[in-house]
Amino acid sequence: MLGLMQNQQLLTSNLLEFAERYHRDTEIVSRRVEGDIHRYTYADFARRARQVAGTLDAMGLAPSTRVATLAWNGYRHLELYYGVGGSGRVIHTVNPRLHPDQIAWIVNHAEDEVLCFDMSFLPIVQAVHARCPTVRQWVALCDADKLPADSGIPGLVSYENWIASTPTSYTWPQFDENTACGMCYTSGTTGNPKAVLYSHRSTTLHAYGASLPDVMDISSRDVVLPVVPMFHVNAWGLPYSGPLNGAKLVFPGPGLDGKSVYELIESEKVTFAAGVPTVWQMLLNHVQTQGLKFSTFKRTVIGGSACPPAMIKTFQDDYGVTVLHAWGMTELSPLGTVCTLKNKHLGLPAEEQAKLLAKQGRVIFGVDMKIVGDNGEDQPWDGKTYGDLLVRGPWTVGNYYRNEGSSPLVKDAQGREWFPTGDVATIDADGFMHITDRSKDVIKSGGEWISSIDIENIAMAHPAVAMAACVGMPHPKWDERPVVFVALKPGQSVSKEALLAFYQGKTAKWQIPDDVVFVESIPLGATGKMLKTRLREQHAGYVLP
Ligand code: ADP
Repeated sequence: MLGLMQNQQLLTSNLLEFAERYHRDTEIVSRRVEGDIHRYTYADFARRARQVAGTLDAMGLAPSTRVATLAWNGYRHLELYYGVGGSGRVIHTVNPRLHPDQIAWIVNHAEDEVLCFDMSFLPIVQAVHARCPTVRQWVALCDADKLPADSGIPGLVSYENWIASTPTSYTWPQFDENTACGMCYTSGTTGNPKAVLYSHRSTTLHAYGASLPDVMDISSRDVVLPVVPMFHVNAWGLPYSGPLNGAKLVFPGPGLDGKSVYELIESEKVTFAAGVPTVWQMLLNHVQTQGLKFSTFKRTVIGGSACPPAMIKTFQDDYGVTVLHAWGMTELSPLGTVCTLKNKHLGLPAEEQAKLLAKQGRVIFGVDMKIVGDNGEDQPWDGKTYGDLLVRGPWTVGNYYRNEGSSPLVKDAQGREWFPTGDVATIDADGFMHITDRSKDVIKSGGEWISSIDIENIAMAHPAVAMAACVGMPHPKWDERPVVFVALKPGQSVSKEALLAFYQGKTAKWQIPDDVVFVESIPLGATGKMLKTRLREQHAGYVLP
């Protein structure tokens, strides 16, 4: 017997309608490419998202047509998220930090028909447009009078002109909640980029899950600053969980340097922000060197790569900002785990709590995880034994777009399908997961494994170190030995010997790196993660001492 409840489909347009009806005067504030601050309300946003949807209808774009963006976090990007998805098309966010050849490859693979871009990315569009035959409309996300006359891009229109004559009235179509609404390619750090195709259902459930008190704890009293880009994994779902809660949204646009982010946090009274460690490092450097404090900023979720415990401590002890360490990936929409204490941990000494909070944390309802050994057998949850991390759930990828004939999933003995994350982790008895490495970065020394992240975290706790990357280098006896590449903070210094001595007592002797190599900077990938592949290329001739 089926339940007798209303069978309303979970569509992203419902989030917009909710925000418009119940939080109509709540603000959305954006720093624009032009440098000024734009502000309007959820009511204004909903009107313009409807204009976007109507414009796409008027173009005669078929359902599920991909509409691409190359854009910063801002109000027009948000209107596209909802106008495109809500009208039954697919918003395909493209990462502008990728190489233009890769961008052209992705646009062709997705067969995008419209591409909307911020003016900062005009040079990319000029470089790739001739190689993107599926795109029939290029749209510059700018005011009509900012459109360059000689862009060289055929039929280029300004976004404002593009939507101007479309009525603000529009009835959102109703369709199956499993319909695709968004698309994001993995950043390709482990091979060719692969397309993850989110559905209305997965996106809505993820937005609910992300809002929970043990996750991001977002409410209508919050002022939310997504510093994580809307061009990669939907800024961790914040453009959806913000409206779901009626929270004020603040978008940083291209201003990701410490000063710009700090000013926005203070002027807009931001309470909650999300970002990757490299961006937060810039913010911390700014507030530290300028002797500043935060007046409203209370908590931040940090993930995308391991958040050094030293960063968690500085935010908490020096600035009163609680760090929620999170783990996720493009294939998980992206949230998998967030680290918050359980009731039983509240009485633990601060040091023990800090150890727990440095982990990547516990799963959200909607994600199930396990660790397995080489033969696929479950590994114990003792916080020590590591294994390959597998996940499943309604916002985990089932397959990649155009990956016909093959599946990334593996089946267990009960026939349940799991997605192998490519990460190696431990899980403790309370379900706290700790990423030790990406499987390709684990250092294998004398039959034992060394976590490159642990070695990096120790170096990053040294006051002179800005960033550290640990890689395994070939060794005739031990297979591999760890070497740590270190970029120092401006004006700071530490010798190789002093840094190696700093490791004493902080890790097992045999895990201490064999060498320290000082570098100007650590190469970063398109999503701000350390690119160890490039680091290896740059030091191809390196031999262990
Ligand atoms: P890509 O597109 O490079 O695969 P994603 O943006 O999907 O990248 O990133 C997913 C990966 O990032 C994870 O599989 C994991 O290796 C890493 N990652 C994410 N969050 C964390 C974290 N908190 N700690 C350690 N690694 C993390």
